[in-house]
Amino acid sequence: MILVVGGAGYIGSHLVKELVLTEEVVVLDNGSTGHFSSIADGVSIVQGDLGNPEVLKSIFTKYPIKAVMHFAANSLIGESVENPLKYYKNNVAATLALLETMMEFNIKNFIFSSTAATYGIPTVDLITEETPTYPINPYGKSKLMIEDILEDFYDAYGLNYVVLRYFNAAGAHISGEIGERHDPETHLIPIILEHLLGEREKISIFGTDYETSDGTCIRDYIHVTDLAKAHILALEALLEGKVGKEIYNLGNGRGYSVKEVVDMCQKVTGRKAIIEYAKRRPGDPAKLVASSQRIYEDFGWRPKYRLEEIIETAWKWHSQ
Ligand code: UDP
Repeated sequence: MILVVGGAGYIGSHLVKELVLTEEVVVLDNGSTGHFSSIADGVSIVQGDLGNPEVLKSIFTKYPIKAVMHFAANSLIGESVENPLKYYKNNVAATLALLETMMEFNIKNFIFSSTAATYGIPTVDLITEETPTYPINPYGKSKLMIEDILEDFYDAYGLNYVVLRYFNAAGAHISGEIGERHDPETHLIPIILEHLLGEREKISIFGTDYETSDGTCIRDYIHVTDLAKAHILALEALLEGKVGKEIYNLGNGRGYSVKEVVDMCQKVTGRKAIIEYAKRRPGDPAKLVASSQRIYEDFGWRPKYRLEEIIETAWKWHSQ
């Protein structure tokens, strides 16, 4: 049995959809940002907080948990700057409570959702896991703190773990059954698609004076099912005892500017966007593109979906 913490969320629910094909799954989620309706059939669901040791103890007592996959976190950079307490409480303190209870129950396999935000403002074109981490906001810092804690737990308690640093998760399940649904929505692709569906008056492009080819920010968009597949490979490796402490980037290795993403959305949907050019959004680095060479070498992971297909799946989901 695998415990998926935050399995009702965007990335967690896509992972669960893949994981139930091979494993028994229990999801712990408090429903704060996720949707219980997104959880695949056949999964046991516990509604509660991961920072609550009583809830965790009851799960670990009831189910024979082999590994924990942890997706539950707050993940908005701007909000983390305004309300760091929320981020250190929910992302750091609650995760520590989870790890503490895992150690108590001798559960030694852990997969942790981390982020490109741990790199801050990188000076390299292609970010590898060796690129120095200097997070510039509480969100990125909160994730890096847990990464550091995991390393110490590996040394002291023999906790085996895989950290996955996501770049820009995007797209929806190919079935059209689940997809990205945040409230409020802040992410680029869903915002553009909502506009093209007539649900928003216009879109804003944040910043046109970055040092990039067209002046807008460049990001590496990675399909949520490709992310899910990477988790499955990491889990298999952990359960087979092949990995101890590992960190992997997950991206496509190809960057797209905000303007290019808008163009691709227009192409995929055949609709025209009304664009407002706005000032920079605080905390946005000009360019974040991943090298995912390490996870390819270790697990043979390669992303399947490119930007066009990412947007096609998102459009299918949004237009339903
Ligand atoms: N962005 C934008 N307009 C929007 C939302 C996002 O121009 O309405 C830009 C944002 O500044 C960033 C990129 O799109 O450069 C991706 O932002 P998103 O919030 O999707 O992901 P993040 O990179 O923050 O994880």
